[in-house]
Amino acid sequence: MSTNRELRARRQAAVPRGVSSATDIFAVKAENAELWDTEGKRYVDFAGGIGVLNSGHRHPKVVAAIQHQLECFTHSAFQVAAYEPYVALAEKLNQLAPCPGPNKTIFLTTGAEAIENAVKIARAATKRHALIAFAGGFHGRTFMTLALTGKVDPYKKGFGPFPGDVYHVPFPNRFHGIEPEYSLQAIESLFKADVEPTQVAAMVIEPVQGEGGFYIAPFEFLRELRHICDQHGILFVADEIQCGFGRTGKMFALEHSGIKADLVAMAKSLAAGLPLSAVVGRAAVMDAVDPGGLGGTYGGNPIACAAGLAVLEVFEEEKLLERSAKIGERITARMTKLAASNRFSCIGEVRGLGAMVAIELIEDRASNKPAAALTKRWAETCARNGLILLTCGVYANVARILVPLTASDGLIDEGLTILERSLDQAIAA
Ligand code: PMP
Repeated sequence: MSTNRELRARRQAAVPRGVSSATDIFAVKAENAELWDTEGKRYVDFAGGIGVLNSGHRHPKVVAAIQHQLECFTHSAFQVAAYEPYVALAEKLNQLAPCPGPNKTIFLTTGAEAIENAVKIARAATKRHALIAFAGGFHGRTFMTLALTGKVDPYKKGFGPFPGDVYHVPFPNRFHGIEPEYSLQAIESLFKADVEPTQVAAMVIEPVQGEGGFYIAPFEFLRELRHICDQHGILFVADEIQCGFGRTGKMFALEHSGIKADLVAMAKSLAAGLPLSAVVGRAAVMDAVDPGGLGGTYGGNPIACAAGLAVLEVFEEEKLLERSAKIGERITARMTKLAASNRFSCIGEVRGLGAMVAIELIEDRASNKPAAALTKRWAETCARNGLILLTCGVYANVARILVPLTASDGLIDEGLTILERSLDQAIAA
């Protein structure tokens, strides 16, 4: 078996540096919320493959569904010969999605592709072209999704020009002094200065920003956005790719606000690691595109759809939504206690919605100045101590927890103990 060091050298020679990895780990095995590297070292996994494994690594039900589908067929292309798992999963998502219904669903492969298709559908349905997105938002790495993404470095740097007619407004962020009223005023001024509201096809928003820093859009703010959309015939597109699938204690984060979206983009935990994404939306909107206008060779692969159906069963049988809320309370309680001690005055804020919990580090409480270097050191120390912890944030100063919802209290506590010890060591370093 190769060592981590050997594999790193081979990787450096064979893979471009543009694909970066959060850790130096070379994985060989994973089970629920644990992962082992090529040298046999065990890690508690608080990353879940970037929010993909809300139902855990290799859940037996998901593995059995994949195995069953493998025995039948692996690919026919839905556009050549359709199959039931695609239709069955679409039926389920049509019921679950926070859209007024009746709904329809198309499956694709990546999160970016889901957003791309949501934009295509919104433009075809409204016959308008402009799009509104939010600073700090992340929607993918293809050209349209980069245009929508509200963070230049590293995502957009050097890749322009991007598709036009995309306008960014500030995402409300009280911790950094951006009140929701300010964001609403920015939309008003956008309509005066840059684009007529009658030309806007859609507003695209993450109800809880993922890569941007786990900032939660106030529910009242989301209701106001819905109102603005209704006033002007703009479609409301919720990007639930990271905050969906139970992460926030509800199936979709938008449900906390009580409003409905016209279109919802999903991916990540939808199929527990198999590449599957979806756009779900009002049938009238989804059907605006003529036959042949949507699709893709691999979109809605049968193995991925079978996995998706199993994931939904696991959610129901193991009551993962309730578990998500409980996990969130457990982590938040312990981290809030930590933040209260003088030793950890670098913790500026512990925030979360369900099990989507973040810890934001600052240099001092007077300025709230982001402590990016310390956050990086913290994540690196965690990895050395056997915990996979991801960072995020427009200021790169946020640790985010995306632990599988199937993890036991014991494992979560073990991870939190490493997290605490590692922060202590990172401060001292
Ligand atoms: N939207 C959000 C909210 C995301 O978090 C991501 C991935 N981090 C994407 C879109 C893009 O998904 P993918 O990497 O599968 O294209």
